[in-house]
Amino acid sequence: MWFRPNGSMRTARVGERRVSMDFGVAYTEEQQQFRKEVRAWIEENVPEDMKEPVDGRDDTEEQWRFWLEKHREMAVKGWLYPTYPKEYGGGGLSGDHETILAEEFRQARIPWSGSSLLFATLLVWGTEEQREKFLVPLLKGEATSWQKLTEPKGGADLANYQSRAVRDGDDWLLTGSNVFISGTPRPHWTPAGPNYLYGPMLTDPDAPRHRNLGYFIIPVPSEGLDIKEMDLLPGHDQHAIFMDNVRVPADHLIGGETQGWQVLGAHLDQEHGGRGRAAPSPRDAFAAKMVDYARDTKHSSGTLGSDPVVQQTAMEAIIDSHRDAILGKRTYWMYSNRMEVQYQGNVADVHNREHQLRNTIRVRDVMGMYTLLDRNDPRAPQEGAQEVSQRDKAGQRHAGGSTNIAKVILSRRIGISRTQERAAPTPSTATKFGS
Ligand SMILES: Cc1cc2nc3c(=O)[nH]c(=O)nc-3n(C[C@H](O)[C@H](O)[C@H](O)COP(=O)(O)OP(=O)(O)OC[C@H]3O[C@@H](n4cnc5c(N)ncnc54)[C@H](O)[C@@H]3O)c2cc1C
Repeated sequence: MWFRPNGSMRTARVGERRVSMDFGVAYTEEQQQFRKEVRAWIEENVPEDMKEPVDGRDDTEEQWRFWLEKHREMAVKGWLYPTYPKEYGGGGLSGDHETILAEEFRQARIPWSGSSLLFATLLVWGTEEQREKFLVPLLKGEATSWQKLTEPKGGADLANYQSRAVRDGDDWLLTGSNVFISGTPRPHWTPAGPNYLYGPMLTDPDAPRHRNLGYFIIPVPSEGLDIKEMDLLPGHDQHAIFMDNVRVPADHLIGGETQGWQVLGAHLDQEHGGRGRAAPSPRDAFAAKMVDYARDTKHSSGTLGSDPVVQQTAMEAIIDSHRDAILGKRTYWMYSNRMEVQYQGNVADVHNREHQLRNTIRVRDVMGMYTLLDRNDPRAPQEGAQEVSQRDKAGQRHAGGSTNIAKVILSRRIGISRTQERAAPTPSTATKFGS
């Protein structure tokens, strides 16, 4: 992909000169061919009723099983986790390929992430044996995993972890609980959960903060492990986890037994924006949908969009979402070129959270109370998509750590925090494409 200085397109006068102003993204012949291949695959493989429903609460066990199977097929093509190393089952493809996949899959409402927070952790901290054991099946789509961080006492202060890991011979016994753990399958579906949970546990209660945690991968199902669904405002994707002396073998500890905080750094760096976004998330499309609504809805003598106040609000929303896409893309560009991402991912993370909230308010200002009608109400515009978005954005303020915590991290990264401690940026784990 490259930015074309195409003189035949828009131009602007700068002093006496007329310069090219076409900043459109152009794709190479090979990339356009790749896009065609992806579209043809979607056409052939993805029936309409297997696409992600507008409201996540309408997903079905049949869809879950369909996508478990399809993800394996996508992994064989290198499309499930495109930029991860081929030697571990990843696609070995470039960031440009991932961008095309993200654009096409999201357009077609295919459940797909292109990454997982556990991958960087295993690539940076896992032994070769652990990568073979955990990373390979995950990258091949043969296993799934959920991150397990937040405890009932609170999620913001992760260094103050209470769930315990106690050595028992060569094994560890894990006891504790978690809340808000996100993941797809519902407890009454088959399979009922992921293959692994991963996250920190307190291994040495007498050691100082940041030197007292271990980082574990926990097999599911396990004796003593219970997963319960939480029905929350955004839907039913969050879970409570209870562990009562769950036995895990020694090789399920990633890093040293008191290095969990440092291992967690690789995991959280990705969660807090360190990988960027190849293409905007469908979650961010709701502002564009609001513009569609303003354009298509009759109002007084014209359309809703002919009202100058609506125009102003819609324009601000669109500028905000474009700025957000560019910030996410900048980090992604750095990540996929194996540059060290310092504060840029955190800037994009804070902006993403805040712009979503600003835009949900703008959507309500333009579309009014119709935004709160759900899919069951015949008057709900856009199949209730805005109502889903209004609930979702309320939850997203806290998902992945809260916005306040994202700001604390950003201020640390730019050197203005109360403490001098600054987490080291995690090295990029993108494939060295072509080398
Ligand atoms: C939709 C959704 C999905 C989620 N998915 C997962 C998941 O998959 N896995 C997982 O482990 N967790 C998940 N979470 C939990 C999420 O990570 C936590 O909600 C978050 O870390 C905050 O923890 P808390 O809710 O316990 O708030 P608390 O830690 O109790 O904090 C309460 C409030 O105090 C503020 N606060 C706390 N400390 C500070 C500080 N030092 N400076 C400034 N403000 C502070 C917080 O911002 C928050 O507003 C999810 C949450 C949601 C809503």
